[in-house]
Formats: sequence, C-alpha cells, structure tokens
Amino acid sequence: MDQDVAAKEQPRYIKLNERDNVAIVVNDFGLPAGSRFACGLTLRAFVPQGHKTALVDIAHEQPIIRYGEVIGYALAPILAGEWVDEARIRMPEAPALDKLEISTAVPAPLPPLEGFTFEGFRNPDGSVGTKNILGISSSVQCVKGTMEYAVKRIRAELLPKYPNVDDVVPLTHAYGCGVAITAPDAVVPIRTLQNLALNPNFGGEILVISLGCEKLAPERLVPEGISNAIVRMQDEAFDGFGAIVDAIMTQAEARLKILNKRTRETCPAADLVIGLQCGGSDAFSGVTANPALGFAADLLVRAGATVMFSEVTEVRDAIQLLTRRAINEDVGRALVREMAWYDSYLARGGADRSANTTPGNKKGGLANIVEKSLGSIVKSGSSAITGVLSPGQKATQKGMLFAATPASDFICGTLQLASGMTLQVFTTGRGTPYGLAAAPVIKVATRTELARRWKDLIDFDAGGIATGEKTIEETGWDLFRLILDVASGRTKPWSDRWGIHNDLTLFNPAPVT
Ligand code: CA
Repeated sequence: MDQDVAAKEQPRYIKLNERDNVAIVVNDFGLPAGSRFACGLTLRAFVPQGHKTALVDIAHEQPIIRYGEVIGYALAPILAGEWVDEARIRMPEAPALDKLEISTAVPAPLPPLEGFTFEGFRNPDGSVGTKNILGISSSVQCVKGTMEYAVKRIRAELLPKYPNVDDVVPLTHAYGCGVAITAPDAVVPIRTLQNLALNPNFGGEILVISLGCEKLAPERLVPEGISNAIVRMQDEAFDGFGAIVDAIMTQAEARLKILNKRTRETCPAADLVIGLQCGGSDAFSGVTANPALGFAADLLVRAGATVMFSEVTEVRDAIQLLTRRAINEDVGRALVREMAWYDSYLARGGADRSANTTPGNKKGGLANIVEKSLGSIVKSGSSAITGVLSPGQKATQKGMLFAATPASDFICGTLQLASGMTLQVFTTGRGTPYGLAAAPVIKVATRTELARRWKDLIDFDAGGIATGEKTIEETGWDLFRLILDVASGRTKPWSDRWGIHNDLTLFNPAPVT
C-alpha cells in the first residue's frame, strides 16, 4: 500500500509522440521545482498539473511539438525542465484551406462488431429513441411563459396517467419575432427548429405552440401530412388564458396517449445516433477522455451506428488531419466548405479562432487553439469520415460524421439534437454540470481528481489512463458499455438524476431586425 502511494507520488509526465519536445505533468496539483523524473529530467520551476515542461532546450523561434504536431514557436529560449506556459508560445497560422490533402489517407473499414444491442423506442420511420418524451415546439419566444405554465400542469395532472412517457419538454427558444426571416443564414435556425421536433426521442408526435403574428409561421415547423398540430394563442376562438392552456393540455394528452404505447425493445447498436462534445477542456482531454471516447466511437462505428463530432473552431486548426480521412472527394470538400463558412462568419464579427480558448482552458494547461484542437479531434477515433452536416441538418448516413456547429456547449447540444442525436457523450477537464432535457448526456472526466470531487455530477472517469492504471482500450470498452446502458434506460446519468438541464440555444448567424 505504502509502495503504491509512493509510486503515485513519483513525479510523472506524459509524452504522446516520439517527436514531442514537451510533456505534461500528471501529478495532482502539479510539481515543485527540483522534482526529478525517472528519465533524469529535473524541473527548474513549479509546473501545475496538466501544464507542459520542456524535455530539451528549445531555441528562440523553434517549434514546440505536442501530439507530433507543431503547437507553436518559442517566443524566447526555453530550457529543459522549465514551465512552457502560454505566454512563451507564439501561435502558428491556421492551415490554409486551399492547400489541403483530400482523401489521401482514408482509413480501411474497421472490422464489423456484431451482437451489441440496446433497449430503445422504435419509431414508425425506423429511427430509434433512447427516451420517450413529448416534445412541444414553439414558433416564437412570446409563448415561452405560457408553455412553461402548461407543461407544469401537464407534468402534474397528465403525466402520472401515462407511465411509459418519461417527460414533457418545452422546446422554447429566443427566435421567431423580429428576425430577418428571408436572410440566407436564417436557414440555420429555421432548419434547426424543424429538425428538433423530429428527434427520435419525441416519437414523431408534433405539437407547435404559436402566438399568431410572428415571422416564423408555425406551419413551417409541421411536416407535410400532419394536421391539427398547432395551438395559436391569438386564435379568436380562445376566451382568455385558461382556455388557451386547456387547448394545449387537450392536444398534449392526445399525444401522450399515443406515446404511452411506446415500449422499449431490443435494437442493434447500429440504431444509435451518438453526439460527441467537449467543454471545459484541459491538457488531459487529449490524453485520457478524448482518446477513450475515440476508441468507443470506433466501436460504435464498427457496430454500424451513427456518430457525430462537432465544434468547428476546435477542428479548424487540425483540419489537415481530417480532410485526409474523408471517405471521398465530396466529403472532403464539404469539410473545407464548413471551415471556410465559419472563417468568414468569424471574420464578419471581427473575431478569429483564437477567441475559442477560455481562461479555464489555459488554466488547465492548453496554451492555444492549436493544442486544444489536436486534443479535441482525437475523439473522432480512427475511422473514415463518411459525411458532413451543415448546422442543424439531419443525419442520414451511418459512420463517423462531422456535424458543423459552434463549440458553445448549449448551441452544439441543440444542433446535434436537431441532427437526430439520441445520446451525447461530453468530455470535460475543468468540470461542468451540463445536461440536456431531450437526450441523456454522459459526462466523462479527464482526471480522477475531478471525477472524485464531482462524484455526483461526473458519470465516467477516464483519468486512470494518465496514471497508468488503465489502458485507452479498456477505458473505451467501459465507456461503450455505459453508452449502451444509458441508451437502454438502465443507467441514468447524473444530470437526469438531478434534473439539471441547459436551455436549447439556437445558432442564428442571420440578422435580427
Ligand atoms: Ca463545447
């Protein structure tokens, strides 16, 4: 036992690639000056946990290499054993989009993985939900308070009568009124709202609450062939607020009756649509949680599932590694198209990709967006990229897709829900209570210290990879099994146990009038 503790307290670092000239300190709370590593390197200064130390002397303007890639250049000479903090690194330019190799290193198909199933809710259109939820759409923010009032009553008075239904979720948002509805970029929020209502967890039951004078006509949120799906508050037939709420409750109950007939059945893992995201990243994200998630993502792809990774500003600086993996020229070009669109979107707003890294990221040891991106794309695993979705587009292919979204946790979550995601896996280094009402979220900690401290918020600890207690493969398999358990409703993630969920947050790149 004593030996174990001593072994853990031994100064340790992680070097990821042969070419790397920096490594990150593993020990909880960092290491003081004078700490000596097994290789003989001695620290010249305190280095916080997750931060980088130089393994060799690095001359002025020489590259600083992590993941075998250049993450920046030394602004002044750095000695071996010094702390390589972000102030000592000049960030490189983003890779030019017109010089990328496309489909030059397409991975061979991974061997199929048979026999893995989950208990899901199969829908008439063939899609499968992981939850049984009545989702109530809205065409404008004006109705939000009314919807929430009605939903409170539905939960109290109706839901207990329909025990197979998990929840009633109001799909409220800030869009609909005072928006430039015909602006080209308005397609993003409108498509998002249309596709959100079709998420497999809502079982195909559509109900839209509308005010009546908004620019986003509620009819646009109802697919063709569905009638009697709109409650309009300004409808002259309604005599007062009570009558409006009664109408919403009547419509809701008609749908609850149908949803209550849904029961879980055994479905192949191929029916899963899994979204991947990270938030509050640290230097361990790319060492523990994201590689484990990448391994689990490969297992899902091998089982025939749909998996999507996102967050344009977190892949932009590693795009040269992704376009090579595009299954064909079209997919590669679509990746470049989404990057270019986002470059111009940021430029219009007077920002660039460096705006992505947060103070928390830097505190966690991530010097810049290049280092963050290299750690972020690891979660896409090692399979070919088989498709690209524009923000809010519905996924129709299997395999590993890139779903273009901002990196903002809530906007990414909302857009992945619109793309049909039925479960999200969220990796975090700094910690976040993030959750979604419409789909379960499995939160994965990059460090054991966080998983222990937030034992009732974090669902899975990938930190054992850093301490050498577990391999990436073992951790990836454990995570894959947890995904199947959560998708089956056997295990509830902490955000659902506490009922803590973030708002739906639309991405509206179009003007507001
Ligand atoms: Ca994020």
